[in-house]
Amino acid sequence: MGDFGRGICFTELLGQEKAKKLILRSFATGRLPHAFLFKGPEGVGKQLFARGLAAALNCRDHDHPGACGSCVSCRKFRSGNHPDFMVISPEKGAIKIEQVRQMCQALSYPPYESDTRVVLLEDVHTMRAEAANSLLKTLEEPPTDNLLILTADSSREVLPTIISRCQVVPFHYLSEQDTVRILAEQPERPDPEAAHLLARLSEGSPGRAGLFLKTEMIGIMKKVISVIADPDLDGDRDPGTLLKTAEVMAELKENLPPFLGLLKIWLRDQLMLACDLPKRCGSEGLMQTGDAGRGKSRSLRQLFAGLQAVNRAEKELARNCNRTLVCEVLLFNL
Ligand SMILES: [Zn+2]
Repeated sequence: MGDFGRGICFTELLGQEKAKKLILRSFATGRLPHAFLFKGPEGVGKQLFARGLAAALNCRDHDHPGACGSCVSCRKFRSGNHPDFMVISPEKGAIKIEQVRQMCQALSYPPYESDTRVVLLEDVHTMRAEAANSLLKTLEEPPTDNLLILTADSSREVLPTIISRCQVVPFHYLSEQDTVRILAEQPERPDPEAAHLLARLSEGSPGRAGLFLKTEMIGIMKKVISVIADPDLDGDRDPGTLLKTAEVMAELKENLPPFLGLLKIWLRDQLMLACDLPKRCGSEGLMQTGDAGRGKSRSLRQLFAGLQAVNRAEKELARNCNRTLVCEVLLFNL
């Protein structure tokens, strides 16, 4: 999902109307802040939006209200190598103090060819206090001709010293319809039914839906559900099958955390079903024909225990415990 499927300008991206409005307002008044903090769920277009904003700021066609998409600057943004668009991403899970120092040094030189150099600092929630402290001065008063755009996951804490120095722009999940439209533009072109299921399971995060589309995740999820779906088999499941399934899950490696998120969505839907409440995302597309009607439904207690087991597994993965072992314990507890 990392490229411009449609126009290059941020105004042409689907969704995020509030963010567009906020930024267009600062454009109109000619008062862009030194730094924006784009805060929202992962996979909803924060990085793409930052690139689209950088393109609009540097478009050579001054009669065009945003980014024209065809001038020399826009073409460089489109191909992904504009010399004045700098991206700092976490290394081994965090933005490090050395990265911040190098960035501050680079900013002491004027932009190569553009009016405004844009620096995108991704996932600043990963910064530890010392890296954040080394950023504060630049964040407060960056050298002229520079705009900093920080992104952060809305479910994670960002240091207050960073937030107070930025204009915060909230990002949100997209509608199912917009997510389906974005999926339809992917080279994999899922059929409409699959696209709707992916959109619902991603809860409106095209990035996450794209991950589901490009990996084996949904297939593995269906397998896991078919293994654990029948509560009548509790304590009577074939350990060999469970161990084999755990191995397949562990193969997902760094995609295991989003996979566990998917599992929680399914459990949550089962919980709503058990309480006779309308399901939030309609994950029944994950059940293979026959699973749904087979056996009695899981008890509330079993479902809560299942959710707790997934939470424990998430914590263990965050502590770098052995993936296969975590999956084995999880499956035996679901
Ligand atoms: Zn242009």
